[in-house]
This record gives sequence, C-alpha cells and structure tokens, in this order.
Amino acid sequence: MTDSPLMAEVLAAARAADFASFTAADARAALERETLRPADLAALLSPAALSLLEDMARRARAATIKYFGNAVALFTPLYIANYCENECVYCGFNCRNKIRRGRLSPEEMAAEMENIASTGLKEILLLTGESRRQSGVDYIGAAVAMARRYFTVGVEIYPLDTAEYAYLHEQGADFVSVYQETYDPEIYAAVHRRGPKRAYAYRFQAQERALRGGMRGVAVGALLGLGDYRRDALAAGLHAFLLQKHYPHAEISFSVPRLRPYARDTLKEGRAVFGHPAGRGVGERELLQVMLAFRLFMPFAGITISTRERAGFRDHVLGLCATKISAGVTVGVGGRALAEKGDGQFEISDPRGVGAMRAAIRARGLQPVFRDHLYV
Ligand code: SF4
Repeated sequence: MTDSPLMAEVLAAARAADFASFTAADARAALERETLRPADLAALLSPAALSLLEDMARRARAATIKYFGNAVALFTPLYIANYCENECVYCGFNCRNKIRRGRLSPEEMAAEMENIASTGLKEILLLTGESRRQSGVDYIGAAVAMARRYFTVGVEIYPLDTAEYAYLHEQGADFVSVYQETYDPEIYAAVHRRGPKRAYAYRFQAQERALRGGMRGVAVGALLGLGDYRRDALAAGLHAFLLQKHYPHAEISFSVPRLRPYARDTLKEGRAVFGHPAGRGVGERELLQVMLAFRLFMPFAGITISTRERAGFRDHVLGLCATKISAGVTVGVGGRALAEKGDGQFEISDPRGVGAMRAAIRARGLQPVFRDHLYV
C-alpha cells in the first residue's frame, strides 16, 4: 500500500503533543465539548485530566449507554499455534524463548471449539504467534472455516496482504485485531529486535488492508507501558479516528493491553516461569483514564478489556466504557478440551469462566450478549 496518508498524520500529531502544557481547564473544556477533536483527546490524556476522572467517568457512562445500551459482548480467544519468527522483548512467544511450542491439528481444533461452544459462547478470536512457516495462511484459513460453523470469528495473527485478508474473509472471518505495540518508531525498533515485525509501516497499515479485503471490523491498540503510554494512547486514538473517517462503514474498536509478566525458559525449568518485562508503569488509574478518553473521543467505538487486568478492575469498567470482555480464557495452545500443547503468551489476571463472567455482568445491571448480529 502506498496510497494511505494515515501513518504520517498519526505520527506527526503524536510527536507534536505536549501533554504537560494542558491545564485542568483545558481538560474540562474538552470534556464539555459535544464532539471531541483530536486536540481534546490529547487534553483528556494529559496529567491535568487525572483530577477529572470522576467527571470523565460520568460522561463516559452516559455515552456508553447512549451507543451500546446495557449490552456487554462476550468472547474468548483460542490460540491455535505459538510458533513465532519475531524477537519481541516483552512476549513469551519471542522466538528466542525456550518454551514449549505447538500447534493444533484439525482434530484438536475441533475438540477445543466444541468445548468452547458448549459454554454458550458465540464469538471467538483465533490467535497464532507470528510464523508464516509454522502457521501459514492456509492453516489459519482452515481454522477460520471450522470456527465459522460455531462462532462469529475474529483473528489476531501476523499482518497480511489485502488478498490474504480477502481469503480469510471468504473462509468466514470478519474481524481483525492488530496492535502496533508502540507507535514510537524508535522504541518499536528497539523492542522488536528481529523478524518480519520490524516492518513498522506494514503493520501500521494492516487494518486498512483488512478493511479493503472485506473485513467488517478492525481493532487497534498499543501495549501500554512499552513507550510513553500517553503518546501511544493518543496515536492509537488518532489511528482509530482516521480509520473511521476513511472507512466509515467499518466497525472500529480499541484494546488497551498493559504489559504483563511473560513466559520464558520453560524447557530449562520444566514449568512455565514468568519474567517481568521492563516498561514504564501504567497504573489502573492511568489505564482507566485512557479508556475513558477513548470512550469520550469515539463514543461509538467498542472497547475490549482483557484478562490482563484483575477481575475487580474489569467489572468496574463494564458499563463505564468497556463494551466487550473475554471469559474462560487460556493463553496457551489448546488447554480446554485437551492438555495444553504449547506454553502461554503471558500471565492472565482474571481466570473466570463464562458462567462467572455472565453473573458478574448481570450483577452490574448489564446484559451479557453472546452474539450481536446475524449473518444473512
Ligand atoms: S508479540 Fe507477537 S510477534 Fe512478538 S513474539 Fe509475541 S507472538 Fe511473536
């Protein structure tokens, strides 16, 4: 792709932002605007806006109810392979990590999917590590076709060409998540030491290629804590905003992962050992600020909250700003119907199953939604 102006615009705006220059009055003015501009998003992400969290939460809640009602969508991830050709310093699947690697056979996938379907879930996110050699597009396509018999299917895999996204869409996938990890090109180059993922621009443009390939929706996000989280959140917000502007039919959503301990050296230790990645701390208060700012900036965009966060925090953001939540999560390869075939990507915080998650949503006066659209 050579015809997209999005990347230059996002990078220029993120680079230029001076978060320390915003006052509480600037943040309040942004909060009171009916339709927020990109500069308002920067104001709401600034340190000055932290004193307005209560007000931001009140307005975010009203916006969430206006666009999503009481609905909270449920889904679960299924890792079908954990081979990877990249050396990302913060991830358990890093190709230099000596962890158990594996990928599911068609029979094993079927068993895992049957197990997930029996919990009542109707939406699945298929994940792999990023290895075209070990989990090629055909392999992923076969998994998508199988999953489509039971579920609405999204994929979180390595970035593809437009024609490859079109192929996965034909197989039944209609949603693509790709996280830029950090939008700062220098930090990006430093934490992605080797592998195809070093191609920053190719990754940045993945959502556009997915939409051009026919996908219904895409997710954007940064791994908060890798770089300056305010700047990364601003860039992710602008990325989503420009995607929506250029592809108005698309369903855009945010994810807000924070750095977590990741698996390493399982073979040496004989069990999963979790190391702590180096990164700038992002507390729950700061994470909440980012989520509220996203909600106010793009009130109609979905926000997913992952099991990287503890149960209490996840429950707290439901209804305020988050509209989608995972349940019954495992982050190793398989691990539901079968013994885990490969080690997990990171350590989860909230192990609740579908029944417990559904009860937690109801307890907050919200409605768990297993499928929010039908194929015709
Ligand atoms: S973050 Fe993705 S690309 Fe990087 S090591 Fe992990 S699975 Fe591989």
